[in-house]
Amino acid sequence: MHVAETANNAMPTKIYGRITACRSCGCGELVSILDLGKQPLANALLEPDSLAVSEPLFPLEVVLCMECGLLQVSEDVAPEILFGQDYPYYSSFIPALLIHSRSHALDLMDERHLGEDDLVVEIASNDGYLLKNFVENRVPVLGIDPAKGPAEAAIAIGVPTLIDFFGARVAKKLVEEGRSASVMLANNVLAHVNDINDFIEGFAILLAEDGVAEFEFPYVRDLVETCAFDTIYHEHVFYYSLAALEPLFGRHGLYLNDAKKLEIHGGSLRLRVSKKQGKTAVLQQLQTDEERLGLNGADYYQSFGRHVQQLRQDLRIMLQDIRANGKTIAAYGAAAKGATLLNYADLPDDTIAFVVDRNTHKVGKLMPGVRLPIKPVDVLDASPPDYLLILPWNFADEIVSQQKAFHDHGGIFLKAVPHPQRLEIAR
Ligand SMILES: [Zn+2]
Repeated sequence: MHVAETANNAMPTKIYGRITACRSCGCGELVSILDLGKQPLANALLEPDSLAVSEPLFPLEVVLCMECGLLQVSEDVAPEILFGQDYPYYSSFIPALLIHSRSHALDLMDERHLGEDDLVVEIASNDGYLLKNFVENRVPVLGIDPAKGPAEAAIAIGVPTLIDFFGARVAKKLVEEGRSASVMLANNVLAHVNDINDFIEGFAILLAEDGVAEFEFPYVRDLVETCAFDTIYHEHVFYYSLAALEPLFGRHGLYLNDAKKLEIHGGSLRLRVSKKQGKTAVLQQLQTDEERLGLNGADYYQSFGRHVQQLRQDLRIMLQDIRANGKTIAAYGAAAKGATLLNYADLPDDTIAFVVDRNTHKVGKLMPGVRLPIKPVDVLDASPPDYLLILPWNFADEIVSQQKAFHDHGGIFLKAVPHPQRLEIAR
């Protein structure tokens, strides 16, 4: 482990360390795919009075394992630093996620004929947003989540929840208590767990012989095809292909059975695994597509790495041309994506004036690393910039329609991903 460099060279405070072997298969041959430079933690917004305080920066680079083809970040950041910040995330506040989860739960109950003798276990169960659908239908559940606030909210609505990190230890303890899971679910957690073998071993231990486990996670093919490099940050340790997942599950006696592409979060996969062999035609087709595209080899990812470098260069040129013409630029959306993009772009200080965000908890703070002030969206009416760079490009349509007045008054929208461009909008 190293001592991190800090933004203003003040006292070093935090620790991280570069991996020497693949976290999944242990192979030492790791090839660099994309180096995004030294970056702050993407969610760590700064308080205005902390300008003089050092801000830890960590190398942000993704490497490919030449043995199993798993794309992963090159650094381990100590979990107390990575997850030590208090940013409570309650799934129940996201309407689209609630609808998506409810239909998933209803489908599973129907297909698996779940009843009072079954047990549905969800890892990273948050505030019970998914499991409550099973509880309503009298199917026994257990949530497992280390985040105390959301877990207590789940317990309060009748979703039993174990406040802990899931892995082999917890799974063994539950089996010793006589429990066995008919269905196990883990949505948007597979990419975050550093000790991935211990995590998957937990599924192998707790899952019933005839049970099924389902995982939803961002699919690396979507990341590459949409050039969404700004979804790379330290909390996202892994970027999975089916090719990389098969040996990981296989090591623990689990088989890939089915996969489905989902539109949620800009392109995800829902993968089904069990202790039984057998693949659906859909899964086989996705795996054939991966082979054809070369997701098991370095060329596919290296080409992505070159696209990202080109994107950075094009973005710098586009924004600097605008500034050279005396026009002003602001950015929209102070989310993690934006932090990765702006820190990687490394623009001259006066390129972007400020960032606006609708979230009142973010207003008044500063973007990590680049330290741009975050202002309320009203600023776009009071003193509009000439150009507005939309950082959460996956919500660009929604933002454009919300900010119709900005456009009506001559403002121009820009976005950087999949390539830097001016959005042409009919007046
Ligand atoms: Zn590997």
